[in-house]
Amino acid sequence: CFCQVTGDLDDCACDVETIDDFNNNRLFPKLQRLLESDYFRFYKVNLNKPCPFWTTTSHCGLRDCAVKPCSPNEVPEGVRASSHNKYSAAANEHQTDCEQENRLGAVNVSLSNETREALLSWNRHDDEAERFCVVDDEESPDSQYVDLLLNPERFTGYRGAEAWQIWNSIYEENCFKPFTIKRPLIPNVLHSSAGNDAKIFHSWLEGQCVEIRAFYRLISGLHASINIHLSARYLLDDSWFQKKWGHNVTEFQKRFDADLTAGEGPKRLRNLYFLYLIELRALAKALPFFQRSSFQLYTGKVEEDQKHKGMMLDILQLARSFPLHFDETSLFAGDEKEAAKLKEDVRLAFLNISRIMDCVGCFKCRLWGKLQTQGLGTSLKILFSGRQIEALPMSDIQGPAFQLSRQEIVSLFNAFGRISTSIRELQNFRELLAEEQ
Ligand code: FAD
Repeated sequence: CFCQVTGDLDDCACDVETIDDFNNNRLFPKLQRLLESDYFRFYKVNLNKPCPFWTTTSHCGLRDCAVKPCSPNEVPEGVRASSHNKYSAAANEHQTDCEQENRLGAVNVSLSNETREALLSWNRHDDEAERFCVVDDEESPDSQYVDLLLNPERFTGYRGAEAWQIWNSIYEENCFKPFTIKRPLIPNVLHSSAGNDAKIFHSWLEGQCVEIRAFYRLISGLHASINIHLSARYLLDDSWFQKKWGHNVTEFQKRFDADLTAGEGPKRLRNLYFLYLIELRALAKALPFFQRSSFQLYTGKVEEDQKHKGMMLDILQLARSFPLHFDETSLFAGDEKEAAKLKEDVRLAFLNISRIMDCVGCFKCRLWGKLQTQGLGTSLKILFSGRQIEALPMSDIQGPAFQLSRQEIVSLFNAFGRISTSIRELQNFRELLAEEQ
C-alpha cells in the first residue's frame, strides 16, 4: 500500500516492520555519520526574510527559539567558496567569467576543459521552473551559515494561535487555491467533536484525486516528524543550574495515541512512513547525479571530501536496494494535459508552503521548517526529473539537463535525516511505553 498511492490510503495495512528494520539497523547509523561532516552540517539560510502573507508575525522571543549563526571563520573556506547560488539568474548576471572560473576552481581544480565548460554552462542555467520550493538567495547579506549540529531541532515551546495559523495555512495549500472548500482544514484533536471533524475531513480527502491525497500525506508526515522530535528532545528540566532534554512519553502519547487523538495519531504516523518512502525513493533516483566523477562534496579537505563522497554513495546504493519503493509513476498519470496542470498546481502550492516558512515566529522552528520543506521540494524535483537524471552521463559533456545546488543537496540529506531520526525515535518511544506497562 505504500508503494501504490491508490485506493483507500488510510485503511491499508502497512509494512512498517520492513521499513523500521531497514532504517533503524542499516540506514540511520550511516546517515547520522554523514550528516556530521562539514559539507552537510553547514547550511546557508536567510532567517530574516519578511513573511509575504501577513504582517502580524512576531518573533516569539522564547530562549530556545534562538539560532546561533556561524562566524565566517567557523565555516570551512571551501564550503564558503563553492556554495554560491549557481543557478540564480540574477547572481549569474553579476558574475564575470573570471569570478565563475574561480568558483569552479574551488569545486575541482583538476577538471578537464570539457567538464569545466559544461559546469560553466550549468552555472548559467536557471532551473527555476523545475523547483518545488523557494530557494534563499545565498548572496543576500541576510543569508548566514548555521551549524545544524549546534542548533538541533527540539522542543522550543513555540505553540498557540500563531503556530496553529501556520499549520492551517500550510494545510490550506492542499486546496489548490482559488478553490475554497468548506470543511475543517485539519481534524482538531483537541476539539470536543474531534471524531466528527476527522470523519468529515477524511471523507473529503478520500473524494480527492490521488495527487491531492499524497500531497496531504506529505505535509501531515512532516508535521508528525516535527512533533515527534519535540517530544523526543523535550525540555525535561529547566532549573537554573541545568537544562535537560529527553523523551517525554506523555507528550508523545498526547499527540499520537489512538484513544487520545480519536484515531488520528496512528494515521499521522503512517503519513510519516509515507514521507519516508517518498524521500528514500528520491535519494535512490538521484544516484546517477552524485556518481558522476565531476561531482564533489567540496569543503577544501580533499581526503575527507573523498571519504564522505564514498559514504554518501554507499547510502544512496543502500536506498536503491530497498525492496518496497514508492512508485511515483502512479502520480500525474492521467490525461497528459490535465496531469501537467495538476503537477504545476502541486508545484505552486508547494512553493507557497516554502514561503509560509518565513512567517514562522520561532527562529529555530523556522530554520528546520525551511530546511525540511526545501529538502522535500528537492525530493519532488528529483522524483519528477527521472528522465533528465538518467540522461546525465551524456549531459556532463553536452550541457545542462539536471542540477542541484549545494543548498538543495544539504537540505535533501538533512531533511531525510530528520525523517529517518523520527522513525528511529518511534522505536525508542515503543520501548519506553513497554517499560511503563
Ligand atoms: P499542532 O501540532 O500545532 O497542530 C495543529 C492542528 O493540526 C491540530 O488540530 C492537530 O490536531 C493537527 N495536527 C497535528 N499533527 C498533525 C499531523 N501530523 N497531520 C495532520 N494534522 C495534524 N515546536 C517545537 O517545540 N520545536 C520545533 O522545532 C517546532 N517546529 C515547528 C515548525 C513549524 C513549521 C511549525 C508551524 C511549528 C513548529 N513547532 C515546533 C510547533 C509545533 O509543531 C506545534 O505547533 C506546537 O507544539 C503546538 O502543538 P499543538 O498540540 O497545539 O498542535
